[in-house]
Parts: sequence; C-alpha cells; structure tokens
Amino acid sequence: MKKFKIVTYGCQINVYESERFREAFLSSGFEEVENEEDADIVLLNSCAVRGKSVLKLFSKLGYIRKLFRTQGHPAAIVTGCVATVKEKDIKRIGGKSVIDVFSGIEPLSSRIEKIKKILSLKEKQNALMERKVFAYVPIIYGCNNFCTYCIVPITKGRERSRTKEEILSEVKMLVKNGTKEIVLLGQNINHYGRDIGYKNGFIEILEAVDKIEGLKRLRYLTPHPADFTVEILQRMRNLKTLCPHFHLPVQSGSNKILKLMKRGYTREEYLALIENVKRLFPEASITTDIIVGFPYETENDYLETKSLVEYVQFDKIFAAAYSPRPNTAASVMPNQVETQEKKRRLNDLLSLANAISVKKNSSYIGKTVEVLIETVKKGEVFGRIPQDKLVITKKDASVGDIIEVTITDADAFHLRGE
Ligand code: SF4
Repeated sequence: MKKFKIVTYGCQINVYESERFREAFLSSGFEEVENEEDADIVLLNSCAVRGKSVLKLFSKLGYIRKLFRTQGHPAAIVTGCVATVKEKDIKRIGGKSVIDVFSGIEPLSSRIEKIKKILSLKEKQNALMERKVFAYVPIIYGCNNFCTYCIVPITKGRERSRTKEEILSEVKMLVKNGTKEIVLLGQNINHYGRDIGYKNGFIEILEAVDKIEGLKRLRYLTPHPADFTVEILQRMRNLKTLCPHFHLPVQSGSNKILKLMKRGYTREEYLALIENVKRLFPEASITTDIIVGFPYETENDYLETKSLVEYVQFDKIFAAAYSPRPNTAASVMPNQVETQEKKRRLNDLLSLANAISVKKNSSYIGKTVEVLIETVKKGEVFGRIPQDKLVITKKDASVGDIIEVTITDADAFHLRGE
C-alpha cells in the first residue's frame, strides 16, 4: 500500500483543510505514516502569516528533496498560503521532488479533486467514518479587512462564506458520527454571510448550530473586536452549547498603533467590549493576541499594551514580536523596531501574562469542572473545560467522555485535578 504524510503549518483553517486532504488520501487507498522518510507522498499545507513558518516549510522542502535524491521518495505536494505567493521558490527549493503546487486561494473542493486525480485510485469513503471528539468547520474563508501587518487577505483572498445549509449538513453529519464539540472557523468570523446577503449571519449560524441535537459544545474562531456588538453578546446568552470563552485579539493597547495597524477600534472601544463580556458572561475566560514591536511602537506605546493586559487580566495571551510579511503595508513602514528591543518587550509582556494566567488558573482550585476528554496517554487523561483550559488527571476514562474533575493544582498552562 502507498504511504502518505501530511505536514500542517499555521492556523485552524489549515488544520481543517489538512483533515479533508487526509480523507482524500485515505479514500484513495493510501496509508498514513509518522515520518516523511517512510512516505511516498508528503503533502505540505503551508502558512505565510509568520516568517518562521515560511522558513520551516522551505527547510522541510530541502530535506524532502535530499530524501528524494537518495531514496527516490517521497514526492511533495504543496498547498496553503505560501503556495499562493511563492510557487517559484517552492519549485526551486524542492526541485524534482515537487509534483504539484496548489494555491491556497483555490477552492478546497477543487484542490481535493486534483489530489485525488494525482493519487488516481478508487474511492473508499467508508474509511472516513472514524469518530472525532472535536472538529473544525470553516464557515467563511478569506478576509476583507487588510490590517496592515497581515498577509491573510493576500494569501487567502477576499471573504467567501459557505451557505448555512452546507454548514448545517456538515455539522449534523459530524455530530451523528460522534463529534461532541464543533469549532466554527473564519479569519474574521463576525463577517460570516455578508458576501452572500445574510444580515446577521454570524449569530444566526451559531443559533442554528446550537439547535443540533447531540452537540455538546460549540466554539468559534476568530472574532474581530470591531464587529462584536452587545446585541450579539445578548443573543449568545441563550445558546446552551456555546462555550464561555472569548478570544478577542486586541493586538495593541495603544491607539496610535491600533490606527497604524488599521484595526478599526480604539483602546476604549475594546475595553468597553471587555466590560460587556465580563458583565454578561461573568464565568467566561478571555484570551487575546498581541503583537509587540510594530513599526513606530515606542516604549510608551508598549507600556500601554502592558497596562491593558494588566487591566483586563486575560486568562491567556498569544503574543508575538512583529515580523514583516511581504506585500503588507506595515512591511514598508519606516521606524521598524530593533529585533533585540522586540524580544525584550515580548519577554517582559509574557512574564506579566504568565503570572496573570497562574492567578486565573489557580482560582479554579477546589472547583469541580466538566472536562471533555481529548487524549488518553500513559494512565493520564487530557481534556478541556468549556473555558478552553487544559485539564490533566488520572482516571479510567475514554476519549470523548465528559467527566467531572475537582481541580487541585494549576500553573500558567493547565489545571490538574482528581
Ligand atoms: S481581520 Fe484578521 S485575517 Fe483579516 S486582515 Fe486583520 S488580522 Fe488579517
């Protein structure tokens, strides 16, 4: 039997797409292997959002080319964001090992068809009916926002929503096959449906999915703070499966930097949204994304970000030092911040954020929480609570079980309990 391996870089949309590619390989009679050394074909699903992921892709391609030269396999298929903007480099670095490059903008269905054609073996759809605890379901692709640091509108194109019917039928099928948790995805999920004439598409799709019988948990990624209204928050309160977790990417605490980033909200508006979330969902966890060292960011701008983090008390932050992405407006801005300074700000911010995470997580000690088990390993089970915190415990439980755990210990990254 022919063997394949998929390597995925980047966001949850890529994770979702890789899962569909995996199904295409399996349905074509291929067997999945752990290492590229053993594979006949490696599919690389690339990401261009961070410079590091692009470098990782190119280094992997170099390695595949070397393997291909010495052992005659694996061949590589490359798709995703980097394939959209750097096809020539991919072919140059991968050499003869690269058998095809599919742009990330091309519809997923047509890329799957092309892959199947390459594999050209008979379909065996039944192999796909395996049970998954949680599943990603994209509802909108692309983005119209053009935040000045972001490559997504270039690599993923403009907003394209899937119809409500298509999404609901996919979610129903997943739930019927045992999926307990659904994560709806979109680069700017609040814009869902605008391009196909839905007026309140985002909240309405959440309401419709929430009604699907058998679904236990519903999440969504990634909302945009500028489009999150109080009305949406109020309607969310009526949803029985929606998890009390808000990931609201602020990016900076300085109004000057937010304007340069073209984020479409001010610090004050963001904080007003946070106050509404805290008022309407007092039990919710709140997380965010932050970029430090954006062009023109002074020490004072950075300190405003730091004070916002301290004020909001995020459960967790995902922070990165600004890295210029090709063809974005910010990449050609003067006044880029020195690398060393970016690193210093990042480390300083992370040490504050981690201390807050420890405090927030420790507040769960003594509480009993509901954990959906995702992994069982060496006598320990790993799962998440609705607030999206990872819990580890020793228990005789299976993947997909929902168990009660009393929290006994916590650090910045997870909770432990019994
Ligand atoms: S909203 Fe998100 S995906 Fe769209 S341009 Fe801004 S950062 Fe990029």
